[in-house]
Amino acid sequence: MKIGFIGLGNMGAPMARNLASAGHEVVGFDTAVVAVEGVEIVASAAEAAAGRDAVFTMLPSGSILRSVYEEIVPAGRPGAIFVDSSTVDVESARAAAARAEAAGIGALDAPVSGGVGGAAAGTLTFMVGGSEESFAIAKPLFEVMGAKAVLCGGAGAGQTAKICNNMILGTTMVAVCEGFALAAKLGLDSAALYDVVSTSSGQCWAVNTYCPVPGVGPKSPADNDYHPGFAIELMLKDMNLSQDAAGLADASTPLAERATELYGRYLKDGGQGTDFSGIFPWIQGRSNTAD
Ligand code: NAD
Repeated sequence: MKIGFIGLGNMGAPMARNLASAGHEVVGFDTAVVAVEGVEIVASAAEAAAGRDAVFTMLPSGSILRSVYEEIVPAGRPGAIFVDSSTVDVESARAAAARAEAAGIGALDAPVSGGVGGAAAGTLTFMVGGSEESFAIAKPLFEVMGAKAVLCGGAGAGQTAKICNNMILGTTMVAVCEGFALAAKLGLDSAALYDVVSTSSGQCWAVNTYCPVPGVGPKSPADNDYHPGFAIELMLKDMNLSQDAAGLADASTPLAERATELYGRYLKDGGQGTDFSGIFPWIQGRSNTAD
């Protein structure tokens, strides 16, 4: 297929490279100066979209996505498909899709999990919102860049699945950190607590796969001085998206609200550039009377 790829950063560059190495003809655009193996870099987003069968975007935010769509929808070919894989707010995802569909262009929101490692290895998971017809067209491309693609529902459903999953992860990680911090202050060995919780009703991904305590459980960022992994900045972005969505949808999420606030404080208090599980030593260092 003739593919345009807009946003060639940490995620977009390896994704575009994988499409090119699978034999697709890929042109790309980024506002920064970039070079991606197998991808012809063009001078504008409109040029990257013009005449293409499929156009991917992998951008930092919903407002940037909306402004890029203003530019690429008029340039796009009716009958083409536009796929946004950025993590953005549900409203922007729906607005971008409506803008494309009004011009006769198929649209999907398809955020990913799997991080930079998954993007490089072509093992991402795509959570997709849009029509079955558009999904069927994009599926072979998802198969090049990922290991799994799930059609979750209509426009915005992919972003909804992504931010709810990450809200659950972010909130459970704080709960896990609190459990291990309390146990340590009560004199319980962390390895003993891990042995119990990882096979008991407290088990979850944050304990069993990504334990925030150094030297406990399978290897995780905690064993690498909290080098990401999944950076605190990205977790906070997703937690904030969940809280914006909860406000708009009138959903009660007080635990996630508190977890979001704690991640924000940890970030300001020296967390920059660390994995989100680096909140564990920060929580452990707080006293019971801290606000
Ligand atoms: P990044 O900052 O490395 O890349 C974004 C790229 O978009 C940059 O190269 C930037 O120059 C470019 N850009 C900005 N404005 C542009 C415009 N108007 N036109 C063209 N290009 C523009 O970010 P990333 O880590 O690649 O993440 C991209 C998206 O994927 C984000 O929405 C992020 O939340 C999401 N995501 C990231 C990860 C991760 O582990 N990095 C994991 C899952 C999802």
